[in-house]
Amino acid sequence: MHEIDRRQLTGGLAALSLGVLLRPGSLRAAARSRVAIIGGGPGGATVAVTLKRAAPDIDVTLIEPQRQYTTCFYSNHFIGGFLPFSRITHTYAGLVSLGINVIYERATAIDAEKREVRIEHGANVPYDRLVVAPGIALKYGSIEGYSEAASYFMPHAWSGGRQSRLLRERLDDMPNGGLVVIAAPRNPYRCPPGPYERACLIANYLKREKPKSKLIILDPKMAFSKQAVFEEAFAKYYKGIVELRLTNDIDDMSVVRVDPKTGEVVTKSGETFKTAVANIIPDQTAGKIALDAGLAEGGWCPILPETFRSAKMENVYVVGDATVAADMPKSAFSANSQARAVAGHILADLTGAERPAAAYRNTCWSMLAPDDSVKIGADYAPGDLKGKHALVPKDPFISKTGESAALRKETYEESLAWYQTLTDDIFAKRASATGRVAPSGRG
Ligand SMILES: Cc1cc2nc3c(=O)[nH]c(=O)nc-3n(C[C@H](O)[C@H](O)[C@H](O)COP(=O)(O)OP(=O)(O)OC[C@H]3O[C@@H](n4cnc5c(N)ncnc54)[C@H](O)[C@@H]3O)c2cc1C
Repeated sequence: MHEIDRRQLTGGLAALSLGVLLRPGSLRAAARSRVAIIGGGPGGATVAVTLKRAAPDIDVTLIEPQRQYTTCFYSNHFIGGFLPFSRITHTYAGLVSLGINVIYERATAIDAEKREVRIEHGANVPYDRLVVAPGIALKYGSIEGYSEAASYFMPHAWSGGRQSRLLRERLDDMPNGGLVVIAAPRNPYRCPPGPYERACLIANYLKREKPKSKLIILDPKMAFSKQAVFEEAFAKYYKGIVELRLTNDIDDMSVVRVDPKTGEVVTKSGETFKTAVANIIPDQTAGKIALDAGLAEGGWCPILPETFRSAKMENVYVVGDATVAADMPKSAFSANSQARAVAGHILADLTGAERPAAAYRNTCWSMLAPDDSVKIGADYAPGDLKGKHALVPKDPFISKTGESAALRKETYEESLAWYQTLTDDIFAKRASATGRVAPSGRG
């Protein structure tokens, strides 16, 4: 069992280093090198900040359409009423003050030959190295009746911001005694434990505010992440409120049709649920720009596990949820860890700095109830995974059923400390104290 203690977390993501130890600003690129980054989430923003801090001479441009980034991570805490919206919303002011050019536009195309990114209003951003970190796109068409327009009435709340607010509003508006349905997606998808944490925190809200109500999880899968501890929580805290309907050999609980006007949700096995609130989370792919640019295969972007270079396009790295990173879950922790490595490789490409070792880390915490959180995680390194060269998990750890209340409280506090440290790091809210370039997330 491999445990991370709280000191390691709060003491610093900045200290998570694989040995590339640099004074801030100590690296110089041969000429004025240009790095363009598409997407300002944990993947893209971390690359931008890490690079700029290490080598201020590099021209770093971040292309991101939103002026504010509301994290999907901890959006369940907001939806359940445990954190205000302002607490999960961040600006790019820290990046701007570091000297990063932030262009608030959408990238629309990549010209690999000219090494340019086209942006919404027609301009081109040239690059020597490009980082593509657009997160996910939702496959609305995988469910009949569901669409971007329908997601106003039946929010997925899987892309943060406005969608998280909508789901919260739908819960506030529902009657006491209404039915909430969460339709979980098929693998692979962003944040594997996310739908089940959401079930716990919505159930907690219902228990407090609308105790006659029920919540049903309709799941196209037969099993899911941290299942034992979630099932324990459903029985311990939310008995009579939460019902889990997994797919089995007889019943397929995939949602195949919805009607946003009537609130009806229909499963493949033919059951119809009349909902007060339907949280429909469709299947997912890499963000559209990655698909359009030809960076994906089967919906996700293949990368070389040593570097997170694109397997499909020269001079391009892909990080975060858009990638195929084998068993490494699509999480903010993973994206940040991958992004640190990518920053190290770009520094090596452009300045001759030492390359970071290929080692990554993930931890995903989930809140079950007040002062009760659980976690799962592992380190990852390139190796043989079922006959394929891929990222292989090492030293995995997972919370167990029956843990003491004190341990669960400690895990809850650890998770909040992680959120603070991670978002300070991603959005450059504090000056880098150590000057370390931390290209990967190993403690
Ligand atoms: C409910 C929920 C709970 C979660 N909880 C956790 C958790 O506890 N821990 C954890 O580690 N992770 C968690 N996650 C997962 C985490 O949010 C994602 O894994 C993480 O945000 C991925 O980062 P990213 O940078 O790859 O993508 P994103 O965060 O999606 O960022 C991508 C950015 O790219 C921008 N973009 C997209 N297309 C373009 C374009 N064409 N041009 C320019 N910009 C573009 C988008 O606007 C966006 O800002 C959770 C997710 C959900 C939904």
